[in-house]
Amino acid sequence: MNGLKNTVVLITGGGSGLGRALVERFLREGASVAVLESSAARAEALRADFGTQVEAIVGDVTVYADNARAVECTVVRFGRLDTFIANAGIFDFFQALPQYEGDRLGAAFDELFAVNVKGGLLGARAALSELVKVRGSIIFTISNAGFYPGGGGPIYTASKHAVVGLVRQLAHELAPKVRVNGVAPGGMKTNLRGLQANGTGAQSLADVEGLDQMLCDITPLQISPKPEDYCGPYVLLASATDAGPITGAIINTDGGLGVRGIVNIRGGDAL
Ligand code: NAD
Repeated sequence: MNGLKNTVVLITGGGSGLGRALVERFLREGASVAVLESSAARAEALRADFGTQVEAIVGDVTVYADNARAVECTVVRFGRLDTFIANAGIFDFFQALPQYEGDRLGAAFDELFAVNVKGGLLGARAALSELVKVRGSIIFTISNAGFYPGGGGPIYTASKHAVVGLVRQLAHELAPKVRVNGVAPGGMKTNLRGLQANGTGAQSLADVEGLDQMLCDITPLQISPKPEDYCGPYVLLASATDAGPITGAIINTDGGLGVRGIVNIRGGDAL
């Protein structure tokens, strides 16, 4: 597979889960890959596993200077930037509104929105001039929570709805020079972390008991996909050849949740 030969991709949160699967898939497609990752250990693991094939930059997506440094390192190393993938994210572990102490709610909102929404916006800004040069593209990782309730608590759901807004607004603003699209995966067993502000900072989605079965139960396709199962749409959207006319689009890869919704999760149980 060499569909993306001569294509340079920068992926945030590429050290784990979906981001790490994207690194492997884009390399297989012939692309050059850079990663902005907050975990130094995960960045080091990328270097150990892929050597000079991957440029791993340690930094925080919530800091503009780190995004700018990641873009600069990518261009110094590979000569250009074709696709920026805003993928890093954190989770609220389904914490419902009544479960927040009122004085923690604002801190939880700020912590989660800083990564899931501001991080992507800062990265897009930092990448913009390089993307304009090559008529490149941006891809945002969204979630089923960008469309439906029940895939998180109100803070996570609101953050992913906000990212849908970013895709639409930026596709509008940045045309005709930069395409902007999204992929909205369903659940998967990853290390997705919680929030310091609501006490779930040390939790990992992979530790949720019965997650695979729950995903099978709620999806019409009755599947619990792995991160690598979600990568194909990113490859499509990054391809100037195959996705030339596609901007402002979001590919929902959630096993068909939109067909009937999440039927066995009831609202109102929180009260
Ligand atoms: P993950 O925790 O396995 O991977 C996320 C990576 O981002 C980690 O390596 C983490 O260190 C890094 N990261 C976190 N905060 C960062 C920051 N401030 N700066 C730089 N890097 C940071 O989780 P994942 O499930 O692979 O999540 C990737 C994306 O997929 C997220 O946007 C998440 O919301 C989305 N998503 C996940 C699921 C799921 O069920 N796991 C479902 C739909 C969407």
